[in-house]
Amino acid sequence: MQKGKIGVTTDNIFPIIKKFLYSDHEIFLRELVSNAVDATQKLKTLSSFGDFKGELGDMNVKVSLDKKKGTLTISDHGIGMTAEEIEKYINQIAFSGAEEFLNKYKNDANAIIGHFGLGFYSSFMVSKKVEIRTLSYKDNAQAVMWTCDGSPEFEMSDIDKKERGTDIVLYIDDENKEFLEEPKIESLLKKYCRFLPIPVIFGKEQEWKDGKYVDTDKDKIINDTAPAWTKKPTELTDKDYKSFYSELYPASDEPLFWIHLNVDYPFKLTGILYFPKIKSNFDLNRNKIQLYSNQVFVTDSVEGIVPEFLMLLQGVIDSPDIPLNVSRSYLQSDSNVKKISTYITKKVADRLQEIFNNDRKQFEDKWDDIKLFIEYGMLSDEKFYEKAQKFALLKNTENKYYTLDEYKTLIESNQTDKDKNLIYIYATDRIAQYNYIEMAQAKGYDVLLMDGQLDIHFIGLLEQKLEKSRFVRVDSDIVENLVKKEDKGTTVLTSEEREMMTTVFKSQIPAIEKADFLVMFEPIGEKAQPVIITQNEFMRRMKDMSAMQPGMNFYGELPDSFNL
Ligand code: ADP
Ligand code: MG
Repeated sequence: MQKGKIGVTTDNIFPIIKKFLYSDHEIFLRELVSNAVDATQKLKTLSSFGDFKGELGDMNVKVSLDKKKGTLTISDHGIGMTAEEIEKYINQIAFSGAEEFLNKYKNDANAIIGHFGLGFYSSFMVSKKVEIRTLSYKDNAQAVMWTCDGSPEFEMSDIDKKERGTDIVLYIDDENKEFLEEPKIESLLKKYCRFLPIPVIFGKEQEWKDGKYVDTDKDKIINDTAPAWTKKPTELTDKDYKSFYSELYPASDEPLFWIHLNVDYPFKLTGILYFPKIKSNFDLNRNKIQLYSNQVFVTDSVEGIVPEFLMLLQGVIDSPDIPLNVSRSYLQSDSNVKKISTYITKKVADRLQEIFNNDRKQFEDKWDDIKLFIEYGMLSDEKFYEKAQKFALLKNTENKYYTLDEYKTLIESNQTDKDKNLIYIYATDRIAQYNYIEMAQAKGYDVLLMDGQLDIHFIGLLEQKLEKSRFVRVDSDIVENLVKKEDKGTTVLTSEEREMMTTVFKSQIPAIEKADFLVMFEPIGEKAQPVIITQNEFMRRMKDMSAMQPGMNFYGELPDSFNL
């Protein structure tokens, strides 16, 4: 038997670990299961390169409880460790990491983000004693046991262990008895280990028999070892994406779009982001983007990693390159994290552009649901604005959708003021402003519907961005002052009727006779209303309003000096 002192200077490191990590002690399970998965994958790799020639056998990880002994055990059939390796990887290396961690955060408990890998030693957050029983895959290896009771002293001795691999046995301490409860462990495994690449077994599958559930002899595997994001987009159908979405967020509506992320350089990142259909009962706290590192769940608070305007998206991001063992402020200033955020923004914009190009109809159908994300993105991110201005849509009160350019073209010819500024007229409430909308339309103006949550801010943004443009909201003043615009398409007169009306007008307004003019009927609501459109030359002479008969409305392209 070997006795020794773990290579650390602070004698009382375990109480400190427990105190500091108290709020998030459950992550010990994530750490131990992912170590077991790592050890298993290492052996698989050795085997595939021919460096391990033995039988791999069952390559799963098993988690089990023994309530009588008060233990929780994590077992694997991976590479195992020799005594020298324990000395190197457990006694020295792991602890130096812990020491560094403690030095860093000793005076600032709040700086701990709550998600960091203290690795193997996090087991001491919940244990009064930890045992490692391990047999290396190496030829003629001797199995060893290492124990440590929470002081920096450990013991190591040879043991008899036939099966290759490692058992980590935790003697759960009195304050953490909850980790001896099956439902608790199962829920933690489902949280952290749900998509690990190696099957994780916990208990047995159950069946309904004689009025109750009983264990079968089939192991219960708690994880999906090949989640959609780890596959190539070409291998996946729409159905696969949708079913992965409902695996992540059961009982949610179908997502609107998804984006498969896949990048190798300058950082590694995969994932699938979904645009959810946001309903009034959409639960922001439950349906978050989940961050994984090599398929290990890390966190669902992704502030600083995902651009803020995409925080409403759902799905999974997996990157081994996001430093997880550091404080959030560090994370936000990390250059890899910044690149990731930029990359995601670009990818989301490109995908939206692609859908817009390939299926405008679908894009329009979903616009009302996605516009919140897009407007928010355009408001908060200059780069996103640049891209999104090509596919962002404006919707008018007739439910027609236009891109910014298309809308400009639509109103360019007739919605300008005397300084040639484009006038964008908008309503914020289709019902309350119904009359004004009708009136503006009757005067030949198109009216935008800007009734979204962010529309007012978005208008402010467009006013800055679009040159020589003004946005005005329909109200009584505005509508009254709108100058009636010529719209050749709306005349309802036949040529005979026009002829006839011209004669009538000429007889009523003698001055008109010498002018070059046109009389039209314009539909306003149900009724048609007579209108005279004339040339400026005539208008100037019409300044004397006595030329007009009472009750006759006069509209037209008024010269600057003309006041009605
Ligand atoms: P990390 O996983 O980040 O290296 P840990 O503290 O979790 O840090 O583990 C330290 C080392 O101990 C691992 O790198 C590995 O070499 C060894 N180790 C831990 N658990 C196992 C295991 N189940 N099988 C084999 N080796 C292990
Ligand atoms: Mg580890």
